[in-house]
Amino acid sequence: MQVIYIKEDRFQYDIHSLYKAFYPAEEVRVIIGEKGLVPDKERDISPSDEISFIDVDTSKNDLKKQIYLELSERTGKELPWGDLTGIRPTRIAMNLLEEGKTAEEIRSYMKDTYLVSDKKIDVSIDIALREKEILKDIDYKNGYSLYLGIPFCPTTCLYCSFTSYPIGAYSKVVDEYISCLKKEIDFVADSFKGKTLDTVYIGGGTPTTLEAEQMRTLIGYLQEKLDFSKVKEFTVESGRPDSITQDKLRAMKEMGVTRISVNPQSMSDETLRLIGRRHTVAQLIEAFDLARQEGFDNINMDIILGLPGETPEDVSHTIEEIKKLSPDDLTVHCLAIKRGSRLFEAMRKKEMKGELKTSFIKPSVDIARMAEIAEKGALEMGLKPYYLYRQKNISGNFENTGYASEGKAGIYNILINEEVQSIVALGAGTVSKRVYGEGGRIERCDNVKDIALYMEQIDEMIDRKRRLFAD
Ligand code: SF4
Repeated sequence: MQVIYIKEDRFQYDIHSLYKAFYPAEEVRVIIGEKGLVPDKERDISPSDEISFIDVDTSKNDLKKQIYLELSERTGKELPWGDLTGIRPTRIAMNLLEEGKTAEEIRSYMKDTYLVSDKKIDVSIDIALREKEILKDIDYKNGYSLYLGIPFCPTTCLYCSFTSYPIGAYSKVVDEYISCLKKEIDFVADSFKGKTLDTVYIGGGTPTTLEAEQMRTLIGYLQEKLDFSKVKEFTVESGRPDSITQDKLRAMKEMGVTRISVNPQSMSDETLRLIGRRHTVAQLIEAFDLARQEGFDNINMDIILGLPGETPEDVSHTIEEIKKLSPDDLTVHCLAIKRGSRLFEAMRKKEMKGELKTSFIKPSVDIARMAEIAEKGALEMGLKPYYLYRQKNISGNFENTGYASEGKAGIYNILINEEVQSIVALGAGTVSKRVYGEGGRIERCDNVKDIALYMEQIDEMIDRKRRLFAD
């Protein structure tokens, strides 16, 4: 374990994140207060733990730089994102572009201030330029985007930290859940009258766990109540192939859905079994082909790097198989071990030891290799990076990157990532976000995660949003 003592409560999160980036497989504890006030044995710290003392009486950037350089020397590692601990590195490039800075000025700033590698600086600038171009027609001030969460899945993936209930046990509540969504849609129709609806995203969970008729009911209601005439993109995540059927695809197509995702995560049956997906590669291919037959010309696929037991060769195999399908959009995630997932709990309780644990925490050199393979594969498929974000506890301190072919980039993904437009979010466990003007402050309100509570407290959920979006 890494134990860091700081005298006052400053930059605790940043210190923790930086240490975790250098020591992904170790527990990291940042303790506030003079060492010695509480004996180490009462804090469960053993003599074998590595202890550091950090003086936080300095600026954040200087402190992070100092920690980075020290840990880099101690471990012999360099991190591609330097000491950047935030989740949106492209935002820095975007802001500087908006201030009129040149690529060269942005490069020097990111290098000097955050020690970011040349490669990551280039990709940040590249993405920021592409995002700017894609978003140029979006009226942030008068527009908004809509998110609907369908919190049901065929089974729960091992790494999942989203709001997700197994559809088998919850199918009886789906109609009531849709009724609650309709109430929320009524609120949006009333409160956002006169505003432009730019993008609609139905996510989850797995929206395609709804039956075709339920989808028609829900989407039909949305279209009846809201003005879809300016909607630039309508996505429905159809992530799990084991939930996709021809009649559901047909229903979505007929109801005007423009973009879907069919997510493999890996093209290895053994890995899919290990992570609890309970579908096969053959099912994935079948679902993808079916979606093409039904006329979908913008299909996203998600893959995850760093899955248990996987090597860079497995990622090569996954990429080669995906190439045969030629998706329009590929999102490359690095495994993040998030609070609330079965994986996190197993690791916290130390149920995963030895080989199993290390098979989840890949050395960063493996993740770097995997990311290179995925990037090369995406470029060979004619896809270019268009958005990028990082997460807490992500494997190797890397990032998630979305690649897309020309004209197929997911606009909603950019909007939510760059936090430039208000998003009204409906359904259990969703978070609405109000953005006050470009680059302005952001306020959020969330709907409870528990589905029974959400349905019971639906009026309170709507009231919260009403307050958030009141003029
Ligand atoms: S499909 Fe997505 S939301 Fe559903 S259990 Fe898996 S990770 Fe969670």
